[in-house]
Amino acid sequence: MKSGEMPGAEAARELGWWRAHRWLVLRRISQFGILGLFLLGPWAGIWIVKGNLTSSLLLETVPLTDPFVLLQVLFTRHLPETTALLGAAIVLVFYALVGGRVYCAWVCPVNLVTDLAHWLRLRLGLRSNARISRRTRYWLLGVVMLLAAVTGSLAWELVNPVSMTHRAIFFGVGMAWAVVLMVFLLDLLVSRHLWCGHLCPMGAFYSLVGSRSLIRVSAHARDCCNDCMDCFAVCPEPQVIRPALKGAERGHGPLILDSDCTNCGRCIDVCSRQVFDFRSRFDSRVTSCSETGAVPDFDDKRGSTAVNTRHANMEAGR
Ligand code: SF4
Ligand code: SF4
Repeated sequence: MKSGEMPGAEAARELGWWRAHRWLVLRRISQFGILGLFLLGPWAGIWIVKGNLTSSLLLETVPLTDPFVLLQVLFTRHLPETTALLGAAIVLVFYALVGGRVYCAWVCPVNLVTDLAHWLRLRLGLRSNARISRRTRYWLLGVVMLLAAVTGSLAWELVNPVSMTHRAIFFGVGMAWAVVLMVFLLDLLVSRHLWCGHLCPMGAFYSLVGSRSLIRVSAHARDCCNDCMDCFAVCPEPQVIRPALKGAERGHGPLILDSDCTNCGRCIDVCSRQVFDFRSRFDSRVTSCSETGAVPDFDDKRGSTAVNTRHANMEAGR
């Protein structure tokens, strides 16, 4: 990434605009498409799906239930209906196979808000970075379940930014927009990827669901990396990249197996060296530069202290 350029500019120059944005465009189609499906019923009377992200019925037949909400229901010691249990099982199996945090990158409406905040941070050159552990979200997940058990209600859902964003879009409720604005400002002004990458208990839940998922990103052509840092700059969870990208000498395979990876595909988009691609978790093959078509550009700084410091800084959001 040249100074003053946005991450991915080099990839767009070398590979073309579509190759440098294709997974981003497909994700936006998925996110807006899902919102559109929910809106088709009330707006046009076409009921492909009824309900909301918490609980819905697809084609009047297939129940879909958010397992994160269902788990809260179980903690309240209420017994959910069989349909809700079946709907949660369907959703669980899907995300266990494709990656739990696929929900975060491809479905969740909050991602539209946090991606906008991140893009604006890069544009404005904002570098504020509160030191908050990424494990905080797992503690908050425990707190959410404890809250359900103690209050006997879905207390978290009254303020859950995911439900609130959905409500804000559908009903324009004032309080809901306030929560959406708060998440946007936190990500813009306080720290990079603060909500999704550090605090969201729902993201933590889906990360656990997808810990053994089949679809993973692989840094299969890691030898072609020129340390431009663009992948670290765009990744919402940059700490997941380094073991796969730089861990060959320590015997680490090219697959990004950390379940915090959202399978968003942005690292694939912005890498002008075509280092990354989607693979199955059983495919640890590596690819040479000549096979990817990338011009070998072996930077003599690779592995140097300066480069390692840049990686560490990117992971820490500095
Ligand atoms: S893998 Fe290497 S070349 Fe590709 S975007 Fe990341 S740092 Fe740049
Ligand atoms: S490693 Fe790649 S796919 Fe995974 S979260 Fe980061 S940018 Fe997205």
